[in-house]
Amino acid sequence: MYTEGNPFILRNRMRCCEYCRSYGRARAASAHAYCPYSHFMVGAALLTTREQVFTGCNVENISYSLTICAERVALYTAVSAGKKKGDFLALAVAGRMKDGPWQPCAPCGACRQVLAEFSSSHHPLVVVYVDGNGTVREQTISDLLPQGFSV
Ligand SMILES: [Zn+2]
Repeated sequence: MYTEGNPFILRNRMRCCEYCRSYGRARAASAHAYCPYSHFMVGAALLTTREQVFTGCNVENISYSLTICAERVALYTAVSAGKKKGDFLALAVAGRMKDGPWQPCAPCGACRQVLAEFSSSHHPLVVVYVDGNGTVREQTISDLLPQGFSV
């Protein structure tokens, strides 16, 4: 459970509880990270409209380019369980060096593009993360990827 840090900027209390729970799950998921090269442990938790949570962690590879981020692992896990575009409310992401304090951690550009694919106008996906000032933020994926690729 997320119990420290700055308050979320939120529209109502229920969403705050849901997002806090997701952020806590993201932190917990980071414990499973496979990161022998960067030693940066990342966890992600994807909250669905039915209040299910799918988690992921970063999985590195000695080739480096085959490494996959926690955000995409969480999303692909949800999709492989049958979730579809528009089924997602929020994705929380948290990261830190092994045995270090939690650090600013926003999704990379590749993850933003992949996440945008599964966001909908009816349920815009909100990303919950800690920014460079240590503030927990929530932003829609369209705010994080304003000119993303689409056809
Ligand atoms: Zn990424």
